Amino acid sequence: MKFSFLESPERSVAPVETVLEACTRLMGHDEKLTEICVKLLGELELNDLVDRVSVEWNTRMRSCAGRAFWPTGLIQINPKLTLISDAEVKQTVLHELAHLVAYERHPNRTIKSHGVEWQRACVDLGIPGERATHELSLPTRTLQRKWRYDCPKCEKSFERVRRFKGVVACYDCCLKTTGGRYHETFRLNEIRMSS
Ligand SMILES: [Zn+2]
Ligand SMILES: [Zn+2]
Repeated sequence: MKFSFLESPERSVAPVETVLEACTRLMGHDEKLTEICVKLLGELELNDLVDRVSVEWNTRMRSCAGRAFWPTGLIQINPKLTLISDAEVKQTVLHELAHLVAYERHPNRTIKSHGVEWQRACVDLGIPGERATHELSLPTRTLQRKWRYDCPKCEKSFERVRRFKGVVACYDCCLKTTGGRYHETFRLNEIRMSS
């Protein structure tokens, strides 16, 4: 175990990130991914879009990997992407960002969603040759979840393909009692699953 709450109380803030990653990462606004977009748009000098762009997780998405809303500047991504890899998450964000870039550059013209303008934007964003599909096509293998984490208090459980590094607690329970800071009482029990 990477972290021990009782033995090093001065590090008691450290697991919060892990807690946040465990749960809130799968819903709502994502600051880190938004920052990636902001930086890239700045480099492309699309400064109006810099102010509008925002990336959020949408837990209600099914097979759609991501969506882009223009002129809003909103990008929504499917939390299931985390079951594949961080690289897949980023690739999807860039795919969607390319839609925003293409529309922003041609605000008064009808363009095909995955046409030359979008392809050009993909090149500019560092993902040349990006595929046009939005569908998640997860082989069954990658969807098999191997780990389950149960909250000892509220009976929520979280399934993961990859094992959490370090200690995790139930974010909902922590939020109710400590305002979102890690608390040992709500540490999730780790269960390895097999099929
Ligand atoms: Zn697309
Ligand atoms: Zn809980």
